[in-house]
Amino acid sequence: MNTTGKPDISREKSAELYEKAKTYFPGGVNSPVRAFKSVYGTPLFIEKGDGCHVWDADGNQFIDFCCSWGPLILGHNHAKVREKVVEVIQNGISFGAPTALENELAELILKHNKFIEKIRFVSSGTEAVMSAIRLARGYTKRDKILKFEGCYHGHSDSLLVKAGSGLVTFGETSSAGVPKAFADETIVIALNDKEALQKAFEEFKDQIAAVIIEPVPANNGLLLQHKEYLQYLREISAQNGTLLIFDEVISGFRLGFEGAAGYYGIKPDIITYGKIIGGGMPVGAYGASTQIMDTISPVGPVYQAGTLSGNPVAMGAGIAQLTELLRSGFYRDLNAKAEEFAEAIQRFATARNYKFKVFTIGSMFWFAFTDKDIRKAEDIDPASMEKFKIMHRELLNRGIYLGPSGYEVGFVSSAHTKVDLEKAKRAIFDSLDLVF
Ligand code: PLP
Repeated sequence: MNTTGKPDISREKSAELYEKAKTYFPGGVNSPVRAFKSVYGTPLFIEKGDGCHVWDADGNQFIDFCCSWGPLILGHNHAKVREKVVEVIQNGISFGAPTALENELAELILKHNKFIEKIRFVSSGTEAVMSAIRLARGYTKRDKILKFEGCYHGHSDSLLVKAGSGLVTFGETSSAGVPKAFADETIVIALNDKEALQKAFEEFKDQIAAVIIEPVPANNGLLLQHKEYLQYLREISAQNGTLLIFDEVISGFRLGFEGAAGYYGIKPDIITYGKIIGGGMPVGAYGASTQIMDTISPVGPVYQAGTLSGNPVAMGAGIAQLTELLRSGFYRDLNAKAEEFAEAIQRFATARNYKFKVFTIGSMFWFAFTDKDIRKAEDIDPASMEKFKIMHRELLNRGIYLGPSGYEVGFVSSAHTKVDLEKAKRAIFDSLDLVF
């Protein structure tokens, strides 16, 4: 059914590719949310990206607000990133030995980040967080970790308990295949609830190695936390000899160069990065004080390694992207543009009395079909996702690409021009009129 009078986009070639893909991969994809299971139609196979646009296999063109789920803060195929990758690759693709490029990326980060003294590069956000957890356990000699309902920290065992992202999209927030003994070491409480936090620390006194949080929870909608709550988290962790981990795989280099730690002015003990840090290449990282980081092999007893860690081509992409972010006014301009975009959409919805809220911070936004102030996972009504489903299709039909899940956030990049954002706003207004 098409509610709009506008024809659905053609998906002939994408559908053909998807049929083939299903014979190769479970669900036809290499990462679950890509399967378009909770929105209309088959997944679009993307052929090309440039600036804020992507083109699919059927030649449809979209303004992209998914931006590869966050890494592409400069948009697709940015010339500086592409040129650096091409330059580096002339000398070979991987050596499994140290290169000057690793030093260069580390220096760029550490020089402009007062929250960490040493860093280690890995190849994904999952790896970064998994390693940070092991580091915290090795450093504190404790086993339990505390996480928050709806926060997603990648797909390692002890973190797939009441998690967001693809798990919440598919309605099952914990994964099968995680041994009960592992899950038992993970304490899960609701966000934005001081009492639950106090109770957990009382019940598991001297047992909690780390509290891990997305300081800007962005995998189960955008569940913005009060600064006071994050400060309290800092204090209660320190009082209990527990390390505080900020998982900044999304918020790192997004809210500002120093991520959420810089935005809120709160110093966690360990920070994890991913996405933006690699300019679209597979890079993750974790960093902390020298004292904590020196617990890692080959200095200390906590083992962590990687064949492709610090891969030179990936380092090159990261160097090129982060160098652009350090240009004067980069975040001011990007955040102002995104704020104006979000505010205009909110004004439109409010003027029409639609139960619709745009939650936003920096250049991230989330469309919620509610009039409530949402701060924790349980505040989201799963039935509201039906409205997102309609909106998603109407936006595709109008040349706007959002990630295919109502629980995921959108990203504005520096490549989105005023003209693009005007076009996107008009499409969003039209689709809201159709949803309500
Ligand atoms: N942590 C957070 C906050 C994330 O959003 C993600 C991925 O979306 C991860 C960790 C895992 O990163 P990756 O998908 O690179 O393994």
